[in-house]
Amino acid sequence: LLKIEGLRKHFGALNVLNGVDLSLGQSKKLVLIGPSGSGKTTLLRCINHLEVPNAGHIYLDGELIGEERRGDRILRASASKLASQRREMGFVFQNFYLWPHLTVLENVALGPWRVQRLARKDAMTLAETMLEKVHMAHKRNEYPERLSGGQQQRIGIARALAQQPKVMLFDEPTSALDPELVGEVLGVIQELAAEGRSMVMVTHEIRFARDVADEIVFMDGGVVVESGSPAEVIDNPRHERTQRFLGQLR
Ligand code: ATP
Repeated sequence: LLKIEGLRKHFGALNVLNGVDLSLGQSKKLVLIGPSGSGKTTLLRCINHLEVPNAGHIYLDGELIGEERRGDRILRASASKLASQRREMGFVFQNFYLWPHLTVLENVALGPWRVQRLARKDAMTLAETMLEKVHMAHKRNEYPERLSGGQQQRIGIARALAQQPKVMLFDEPTSALDPELVGEVLGVIQELAAEGRSMVMVTHEIRFARDVADEIVFMDGGVVVESGSPAEVIDNPRHERTQRFLGQLR
């Protein structure tokens, strides 16, 4: 479903991604772990070209993301092409980014209505369905500021789902939350995983990663140090850097 090849990204003199190759099969869950600054968020943002990679390619269902082949050359994709490709990937941000002046329902319906050009009524129906998935339909007419962080993040997830994406990308979805609110958000993500959704998630929640992931990828210094099943990477890490990182979390 998703393939990442030779990805490199630098910010000025800082090399953040130094050649990353990964792939994700249909309905699979890949969890990225690693120390702060290892490039996990940058990698996730490169997948849907929120950051433009300096080298390497991303493929979704075999189609180049953010780029177009013209004969032998590969050029940047047009803005409209990239926008439609981004809709195939539902991105959930660390800090939610909900519209404060719109209700919960409007926040979720806005993309389908204004961007995907569904009829307003159909967009509202779709949004309602997605709110039910995250157990927030009862708050449809509230404004975001009246909600807890955990509830706001569940709206963020519903908004991403409403794009009807092929893959969900979660960027540390619980790291901005008070500890007692983390569980409700992880619970929703776990339900989506059980539905067979394909996802890539950056998280520091190691127990959750062990429960949900098909594959764990440990990154450090902008490269993949090791990857494998949770039993391999979390319970029996081979590399010293992975062992040290996991040791610090325990
Ligand atoms: P964390 O777990 O702390 O979020 P991370 O592994 O997700 O860390 P990234 O957020 O990808 O790491 O950041 C990797 C490095 O790139 C950091 O040193 C960060 O300061 C730097 N960086 C990220 N985005 C930018 C940017 N837009 N401009 C300059 N430097 C950046």
